[in-house]
Amino acid sequence: MTRTFFVGGNWKMNGSQAFCESMVQTFSGQATDNVEVVVGAPSVYIPYLAQNLRKDWAVAAQNCHQLDSGAYTGELSAEMLLDVGAKWVILGHSERRAIFKESDELIAQKTKKALSKGLKVVFCCGELLEEREAGQTQQVVNRQLNAIVQTISPEDWQNVVIAYEPVWAIGTGKVATPEQAQEVHAEIRNYLTTNVSEAVSANTRIIYGGSVNPENCAEIGKKTDVDGFLVGGASLKPSFVTICNATA
Ligand code: PGA
Repeated sequence: MTRTFFVGGNWKMNGSQAFCESMVQTFSGQATDNVEVVVGAPSVYIPYLAQNLRKDWAVAAQNCHQLDSGAYTGELSAEMLLDVGAKWVILGHSERRAIFKESDELIAQKTKKALSKGLKVVFCCGELLEEREAGQTQQVVNRQLNAIVQTISPEDWQNVVIAYEPVWAIGTGKVATPEQAQEVHAEIRNYLTTNVSEAVSANTRIIYGGSVNPENCAEIGKKTDVDGFLVGGASLKPSFVTICNATA
């Protein structure tokens, strides 16, 4: 089992040119070992970050369109993001699903397009509080996963990281317990074994997101099936590096 720990920052719609410059300085030269780090920035800052951020970290976009090009005012294609230096894209975030009404099928189309162009994907899934309380967590996550399992090919999985992000834990300060995270991650791994393959199940990184911070990351990161984090609010602070080193 060689799943390199993966930590993604999701800046969402935050930051400025000055903020990017200060984060580039802050992060440069700070040791992060045995971890793959990806910073998900607003798209307009991707070119600057791709050129200036430390070279062992990569830059991610937070969305892309499902088609190559055309009359889609305001949208960005996977190729454009690659062209300016993004290596990854975050897709299926709960904010895209809830606020922008992205369906499982649309997210699967976006995932397929991004992968076909060579953009790696952090695919997000997770249940609402009502769904957890109704005992539907796994059903919801499986439904979200099923859309991409049906759409991408088994070889594509080497370029996908799955982020399990319970919606009730995102931006709320209400983090899942390490046991809650482990339970769902193990179920996701089982799902991959049954529906894709043993190898994809063993090799795909499944990361946890939702109120991860420098204080709680070490405990969650110790769990067998937790292969890293997707970090929102805490990725906007210099102590993001502490989270990158959670298992160091
Ligand atoms: P949070 O966000 O860490 O601020 O809870 C996580 C995310 O939305 O990816």
